[in-house]
Amino acid sequence: RVVVVGSFNVDHVWATATLPNPGETLAGRYSTGPGGKGFNQAVACARAGADTCFVCALGDDPGGDLARSLAADDGIDLRALRCDAPTGTAGIYVDGEGRNSIVIGAGANGELSTPHVEGQTDVLGRAAVVLAQLESPCEAVIAALRAGRAQGATTMLNPAPANAATTRELLALADIITPNETEFAGMVTRHVGERIDGDAIAALDQARLHALCRELLPAGTVVVTLGASGCFVSHAEEARRGDDKAFHRLAAEQVRPIDTTGAGDAFNGALAAALARAPDAAFAAHLRFASRYAALSTEHEGAALAMPRHGDVIARFGS
Ligand code: ADP
Repeated sequence: RVVVVGSFNVDHVWATATLPNPGETLAGRYSTGPGGKGFNQAVACARAGADTCFVCALGDDPGGDLARSLAADDGIDLRALRCDAPTGTAGIYVDGEGRNSIVIGAGANGELSTPHVEGQTDVLGRAAVVLAQLESPCEAVIAALRAGRAQGATTMLNPAPANAATTRELLALADIITPNETEFAGMVTRHVGERIDGDAIAALDQARLHALCRELLPAGTVVVTLGASGCFVSHAEEARRGDDKAFHRLAAEQVRPIDTTGAGDAFNGALAAALARAPDAAFAAHLRFASRYAALSTEHEGAALAMPRHGDVIARFGS
């Protein structure tokens, strides 16, 4: 089983020709749907074939009802703290060139508490993987990873969004971290004290990237996702043994992307599901599955609702 701890948002999206300036009123095509990194990853994990539990905080409102009904549709065991605060929201403007401006109303997500997380002893006790992101209070994330580790689960932290601050204490609780390029560059600046350009990471020398990963997470695995350039992985134990498989790059699958929103969430959910399904299989095989799963997720518009199923990956790629 996988326990995902994180956020649920109701996304409100306006597609406009340009992004609004201060004082300006624009017209745009409106759509709404579920979002939040935690929920997206939980849906990906469930559809990738894992028994999935989602620990979150929801308001007593239509947004909360939406989360409850969608979780049930995907067979997700929902453990929601019921809050007086409204369910989380995101207001998103997307312009004609795909650029966006986003405002998050954390609402109930900001109230996810340590006691609520620690109270899920029945599921945490049987978890193979605990997966968290940083759209929830840091103490709640720390409690989740700490409980997972104490129970012998593999702990995974997706350190997103990029503007969320990480601490050494938090990172040390993760067996695996999965930053994208921007998040990786931010963490290297903060924790290693070196300035690197997020856009230049895919082109960086692999041995150099590996050395930065080792400094960032000395005892764990770092997977840097590189969008259409695939991903890079760096392992601690193999590095200690001087194994030539301590780091490698995996190219992205060739697909026809129409919307890459949530690709990172697809990747994380699928990686967690693969780790839970076959904990003794090679990590490279798990990465390949996550990469295939994430690639397929980009062929449909939307995030949570666009997540593929395990069978879609098999049908397209054979494994
Ligand atoms: P995020 O959404 O967090 O920024 P990325 O953009 O790095 O994450 O995407 C996560 C993963 O999704 C990548 O490592 C890759 O495997 C897959 N992916 C993303 N964009 C594409 C694409 N255009 N084609 C194929 N795979 C992609």
